Amino acid sequence: MADVIPGGHPDADVAVIGGGILGLASAALAAQRGYTAIVLRLSNEGRPRADTLRNQGWLQSGLMYVGRLGADRRRGRILANKMYNAGLVMLESLGLPVPNGEPSGVLRVRSQDEADHLLADAAALGFSDVVREVEPSIIRQRLGPVFEEDTAYYSIPDAPFPEALVLELLRMRAAEAGVHFVECDKPVCLKKNDRSPSGHGIHCGETTIVSKVTVIAAGAGSYGLLRDLEVDPKMKFQQTPLLVLDGCHSIEVPIFVDRPRGFSFVQHPAAGDHLPEGALVIGTTAVDEDVDFVPFEERKITRARVAEFREKLPDCFRGYVEVGRFTAGFEVIPVGIFDDEGYELHYVEPWVRWFGVDDGLRLLVAMPGRATMGMLAAEMVLNELEAHVECSANPLVRPELWEGDIFMHFHRIYDFDDRE
Ligand SMILES: Cc1cc2nc3c(=O)[nH]c(=O)nc-3n(C[C@H](O)[C@H](O)[C@H](O)COP(=O)(O)OP(=O)(O)OC[C@H]3O[C@@H](n4cnc5c(N)ncnc54)[C@H](O)[C@@H]3O)c2cc1C
Repeated sequence: MADVIPGGHPDADVAVIGGGILGLASAALAAQRGYTAIVLRLSNEGRPRADTLRNQGWLQSGLMYVGRLGADRRRGRILANKMYNAGLVMLESLGLPVPNGEPSGVLRVRSQDEADHLLADAAALGFSDVVREVEPSIIRQRLGPVFEEDTAYYSIPDAPFPEALVLELLRMRAAEAGVHFVECDKPVCLKKNDRSPSGHGIHCGETTIVSKVTVIAAGAGSYGLLRDLEVDPKMKFQQTPLLVLDGCHSIEVPIFVDRPRGFSFVQHPAAGDHLPEGALVIGTTAVDEDVDFVPFEERKITRARVAEFREKLPDCFRGYVEVGRFTAGFEVIPVGIFDDEGYELHYVEPWVRWFGVDDGLRLLVAMPGRATMGMLAAEMVLNELEAHVECSANPLVRPELWEGDIFMHFHRIYDFDDRE
């Protein structure tokens, strides 16, 4: 057994599987706190494997989720508060511009009841200055072809954020702290191994890596890793298609949520050769409940789902469905994982749990819920590590780095289309 990584490094205190926002933030933090840390990911060649790079790039205020966590809105408001502040802290700590409290997004409500809830939530969360009804004449001009009569529009603090840049900065931070980066062409797999302190080895091609603990921050891929070890993954999946259109289509609003129709978009401004006209990333409520886990290459959006997606869109977008590109993100839904009050966790909530302990395995599984909470979830990972794993204070001698720029799925470098 080759229990070393290329370059002859000693094994790690912490091996992190996953190069999305959570894996990178966790590896960076672990190394900064003195752990010898390795981070492994699948390559992003041809298509990004991380859902962090396949999402809408939406800095969430959390207002959209309040009603989903119970009718009394208490848990939902706590989550929203956490989500928005975690997003601001993430941007601020990476030296990126933070939204200045001006309204950015727009929400079209279904009913007066929904508007009343929105205003009450905004007051409870300190957003009253931002969340206001927008005059039809103003919103007509800003929304261009998407504007429709007879319903009310409200400004919301949600804004797009440069997610690829966030990952790039986290990668630099991890590299500076001495994290060793490993990229694999094929998914790594885990096998039981009595000689490893964590009870298992991480197999990446010809190399086996052992560590005191493995942090599984592999998004949907976490399912396969836990199944390798015959550990119940406690998760299922929901496939959420996104449609990417080039250009901004005479729309000035950067984020729009149309509740009556059931769609939303995030507009990313033009940026250099890789995004010459900007892009609209459109999502709808056309989702697949409980899809099976499949490897990234095999994720497909069925024709029926594309047709359903199209139906949710206003006329001005429908014609673009054929020319745009689809990406198939997987939401990871925790099953049978509960918070301190006994509520089963919703998929937009962050969580960190030990798995496989009864079988002598040391696996820390983590999900951020939303990318906005990636760094917050990394702090939760570190709290668990510091409570259970000692640092060897034995820095890696010659850390390796992942090369190349980081891109979102809507950048021109990619041309894949996940539709069937
Ligand atoms: C359609 C959609 C839209 C979303 N929009 C937003 C949004 O706009 N804003 C927001 O805040 N959140 C959004 N989210 C949620 C957000 O994208 C995720 O919560 C977050 O990105 C998950 O980050 P992660 O680091 O846990 O996992 P990921 O980003 O999925 O990273 C997983 C990593 O693990 C690696 N990996 C997986 N399996 C293996 C393996 N076997 N071997 C080696 N490496 C492996 C992958 O290569 C990847 O590097 C969205 C989610 C979806 C599905």
